[in-house]
Amino acid sequence: MDGSKGLEALGAEARKFISSPKKILIDGEWVNSTSGETFEIYNPATGQVVAHAQSGSKEDVNAAVAAARRAFDDHSEWRKMSPSNRGKLLHRIGDLILKHQDELAQLESLDNGKPVVVAKVADVALAADIFHYMAGWTTKADGGVLDLSVPFTPGTEYHAYTKREPIGVVGQIIPWNFPILMAAWKLAPALACGCTVVLKPAEETPLTALRLAELIQEAGLPKGVLNVVTGFGETTGAPLASHPGVDKVAFTGSTEVGKLIVKAAANDLKKLTLELGGKSPNIILNDADLSKAIPGAASAIFFNQGQTCSAGSRLFIQDKVYDEVVAGIAAYAKGLKMGPGLDPSTQLGPLVSQNQFDRVSGYMAAGKTEGASLATGGGRWGNEGYFVEPTVIINAADSAKVVQEEIFGPVLVATRFSDVDDELVRRANDSVYGLAAGIWSQDVSKIHKLVPRLRAGTVWVNCYNIFDASMPFGGYKQSGWGREMGHQVLNNYLETKAVCIAY
Ligand code: NAP
Ligand code: MG
Repeated sequence: MDGSKGLEALGAEARKFISSPKKILIDGEWVNSTSGETFEIYNPATGQVVAHAQSGSKEDVNAAVAAARRAFDDHSEWRKMSPSNRGKLLHRIGDLILKHQDELAQLESLDNGKPVVVAKVADVALAADIFHYMAGWTTKADGGVLDLSVPFTPGTEYHAYTKREPIGVVGQIIPWNFPILMAAWKLAPALACGCTVVLKPAEETPLTALRLAELIQEAGLPKGVLNVVTGFGETTGAPLASHPGVDKVAFTGSTEVGKLIVKAAANDLKKLTLELGGKSPNIILNDADLSKAIPGAASAIFFNQGQTCSAGSRLFIQDKVYDEVVAGIAAYAKGLKMGPGLDPSTQLGPLVSQNQFDRVSGYMAAGKTEGASLATGGGRWGNEGYFVEPTVIINAADSAKVVQEEIFGPVLVATRFSDVDDELVRRANDSVYGLAAGIWSQDVSKIHKLVPRLRAGTVWVNCYNIFDASMPFGGYKQSGWGREMGHQVLNNYLETKAVCIAY
């Protein structure tokens, strides 16, 4: 195996994991794909191959779904496990993630390119947190007692109540931008509710999902409750999304693939939740504290190399502070230390893949041909790996591709506005997406007036990209269906049964 360059920064545990053969998890066993095919895993900082993963086939998906169905059977160990013991198991998973946080952060950085320091304090820490948070909900999926007043059966009384039950076998398909965190956001609530799962990680970044599955086994999850099949969207994801043995699909990824998932799930009307793309407006009013708004708006886009669905990618700056904000963000961008994610001093790493590099470069070129100009950046950084410079585009028309489409890279489009009521609200909402929005202002009444007018699932005020296990996250419009996290996510994995007893 080549690709040892740049791997000196890995600790012994991450090194051991990388050098062991990667398999898929079906019914508690680590096995090879029936297709016998594998695919390459790249280090985005160098473009070199660091490992190979199994290319899951339709047969593997069938076997994984069958295992998940058996594990969901009425008499299975999992179904008989008490809610309290399920909670303890989830706590153990959270604890194991924290115990292995350095190893997991290194694997995540190697696989995705993100700075290892960020991976540890954000991705891995939040992944542990959602298991701990969801552990508390296992014992709280309460139903209620109902008072009926049935007019057509005089003389009969009823005892009626509702009961929450796990939805069944869940297919979960996740993207590459926050690999372990997306796995955790999906798995923790599904397991808390007593479902069984077939997880398909993104082909670009399967490593931490595989390591997490090992830790989940170590925590004592019964066999078949979690199955992990690595592979490609068309050959592994599509058969999972359309499988008749799957009761519910939870998908995070692009809006384009989200629409394919809807069609795949339509055949047997599977339950479906979707967390999709965004093009979120971030708004700086004249009265904002610029010492916070400038670095805040810069990191709203440059965090995770801009590969964040909620990235503040359309920056609306009120006219009086426009010049100062654009200059400030350009200076911030120039000051970011770029380099391999595994270097602890790196602030901005490479994009995840050659594909993503080409896509983002294409948008930077489109900006130019559409008449926009650059306040900073606009090109490749270095001569190996998938690095692009942090970029600020100005003077783009609202209808330009760079304003309307999700770039998913460290590319900000900054624009000027003067009037909040008539102009800003209309322009900020002029998007097919509605995932998030940001407001920077010190005027509480302006903030309160603006919040309800923004069509977005999350509005951050004087902060951005703040996530917490207790705070629901999801999109309006074409940014998705349903919510992740908070108690709201439990509805995605529970059915409600009404029971009516006559006496
Ligand atoms: P993607 O191409 O939509 O892929 C997401 C997942 O779907 C991957 O596992 C992918 O497999 C799989 N997939 C692809 N085609 C499929 C098909 N026909 N049937 C079933 N599964 C299929 O998205 P991406 O490029 O990996 O991720 C970036 C996108 O995700 C962005 O648009 C971003 O906004 C969005 N995102 C949204 C959120 C949110 O919470 N709203 C969070 C993160 C990311 P492969 O790995 O083989 O492609
Ligand atoms: Mg993809």
